[in-house]
Amino acid sequence: MKNFTNILSFDIEDWFHPEIFSGRFPMEQWSLLESRVKKNTEIILTFLSKKRLTATFFFLGWVAEKYPAIVRDAAREGHEIASHGYAHRMVTHLEPEEFRADLRRSLDILNSLSAAPVAGYRAPTFSITKSSFWALPIMLKEGLRYDSSVFPIHHDRYGIPEAPREPYVIYREGEQELWEYPMTTVRLGKVNLPCSGGGYFRLYPFPLSVQLMKRCQQEKRPVIFYAHPWEFDLDLPRVPLSLLGKIRHYRGINTFLERLNTITDLFPFTSFREAGLAGGRQ
Ligand SMILES: [Zn+2]
Repeated sequence: MKNFTNILSFDIEDWFHPEIFSGRFPMEQWSLLESRVKKNTEIILTFLSKKRLTATFFFLGWVAEKYPAIVRDAAREGHEIASHGYAHRMVTHLEPEEFRADLRRSLDILNSLSAAPVAGYRAPTFSITKSSFWALPIMLKEGLRYDSSVFPIHHDRYGIPEAPREPYVIYREGEQELWEYPMTTVRLGKVNLPCSGGGYFRLYPFPLSVQLMKRCQQEKRPVIFYAHPWEFDLDLPRVPLSLLGKIRHYRGINTFLERLNTITDLFPFTSFREAGLAGGRQ
């Protein structure tokens, strides 16, 4: 990393997009469901503006198409516009040509709404794993310069536990490089403990999150922090889930904003682009 700073990023999707609901809310139903993403993204934009913070917004193409104004607002306020794909399908569930079409559709929309070309991608559900590395040359070909989708942990849905924990060039073709900014972990014995926001940030006791982030600062390892608009929604629709699903998905939503406020007071955060990590683009 050129300058030491932590990265703040948001995966902009509606409350019914997470993988946990993929069987329950198929894409044909999305437009019939109550949409809450605009209001929740506005909460994030207001928070960032009050705190004079800049972040990277990985927009789902489906959301950008439905609410182009929030993409324009985010871009106008100096945030980096990046891609979370179009239809929130895990890359590991796609054929290469399906992935290319999904990515291209999202980039066409986002590039038309953003003054600068989109350089970054975050796969739905961190689904760049060893079985989807075929997607890397496609990302580079479609104009991306970095990916932030690899989680170097064991998890039932994603993860490459032995992947590098620092930023690295994950794919190269001639002069062109695709950088990987893996989700942040802290090494504890033989285990990589996530220190990257989202559900982990909601589930850990808050002092533990702060301690882990402090350790990253001491080791001069930036925290790449992620969150979703639905994690700020105090009236998030409750869908019956297994006990584990309920804990993972709903716990800690009521204190997310307050916690984010505290960690952004404690540690410096900015977007990939402002940190000089978007491959010289935007
Ligand atoms: Zn997502």
